[in-house]
Amino acid sequence: MDILRRQFFAHVGQTSPSPLAIEVARAEGSFFYTPEGRRYYDLVAGVSVSNVGHNNPKVVKAIQEQAADYLHIMVYGEMIVKPQVRYAEKICSLLPPKLQSVYFLNSGSEAVEGALKLARRFTGRHKMVSMRKAYHGSTIGPLSMMGSPEADEWKRPFMPLVPGVTSIPFNDFGALDAITERTAGVLVEPVQGEAGVRPPADGYLQALRRRCDETGALLIFDEIQTGMGRTGSMFALQKYGVTPDILCLAKAFGGGMPLGAFISSREIMSSLSHNPALGHITTFGGHPVCCAAGLAALDYLIENNIVEQVESKGALYEELLVNHPQVREIRRSGLLLAVELGDSAKLYRIMELFKEAGIMSDWFLFCDTAFRISPPLTISEEEIRDSSRIILSCLNRL
Ligand code: PLP
Repeated sequence: MDILRRQFFAHVGQTSPSPLAIEVARAEGSFFYTPEGRRYYDLVAGVSVSNVGHNNPKVVKAIQEQAADYLHIMVYGEMIVKPQVRYAEKICSLLPPKLQSVYFLNSGSEAVEGALKLARRFTGRHKMVSMRKAYHGSTIGPLSMMGSPEADEWKRPFMPLVPGVTSIPFNDFGALDAITERTAGVLVEPVQGEAGVRPPADGYLQALRRRCDETGALLIFDEIQTGMGRTGSMFALQKYGVTPDILCLAKAFGGGMPLGAFISSREIMSSLSHNPALGHITTFGGHPVCCAAGLAALDYLIENNIVEQVESKGALYEELLVNHPQVREIRRSGLLLAVELGDSAKLYRIMELFKEAGIMSDWFLFCDTAFRISPPLTISEEEIRDSSRIILSCLNRL
């Protein structure tokens, strides 16, 4: 074992008994490379983070320029930080009029935490509803919202969690009665990611919206994985025509840097600024370098019409892979694909074959029978065809 590998296992906190432990020397576009020069297709993109491709020159330039001006000055919300203001203004210009106030944080978990606090504060209620097989982050608030009973394996060792959370099955219209006049917020991914890519049934998000309006509960969309073009529109809320009261963003929102946000109307957001003042604060949230990177990434998506190409790129992957006899089905929203093998032993085996063949994929937290394809949105047609050829050759060896 080389020294770096030994030090990795000795000193870097581990999340599983068998990490991938591939050393990365550099990354560019749809690929990353090991120090020995081995090339991997990155079909995970850091779990839907690197939407504009690795080492995107526009993003790197923005980071360098902002780093040369200033890094951190003062805790969030006290100073006028130009990249924050410009990014907030740009994001709001793309969102419905109800979503015009952005609270920046560092991560997805923090965005969800903030949204939960805002829903409690605005409604004066504390009960929450989440969806089964939903993942919203690993800190105690989002962990409490992780959809039971499937999530109990992850929740039980950390009990007691935040009380008052009910999980309902995603896409079950009959379960909406669980949302009542005592519910503060309903948290939902418009397309469930870690459940193994589950798009909403026709009319489901509209029915959720109606039930929230009837009961006064706030509808919270977790677009941490689906935002920034992943599903073929800039935000899934546009694709499905439903506006939430609070929108959570992270992952690709920072252009490869750590950045999250929850976004609401000015009226709802203003409830956080008094009784008590400083009721939700952050030192690093909306770091200037991260905001500069996120804004550059968003500009890149827009200037190069990347989002408009997502649907056809996702459809091409589907077309190239769906007829293989090992593939049971493909669930897809834009360039977020779950290729269902229907068997976890096969899934573990294909992960090994992928690693040997230079493909980076992954399974899903609540679905270990399907592999993930969520590459940078900048992936070319030729790269989709080439990576599909490699995937098919691995499927042939199952
Ligand atoms: N919400 C969703 C839908 C996610 O997929 C994730 C991360 O995978 C999170 C929240 C948590 O984000 P973070 O890991 O940045 O805390």
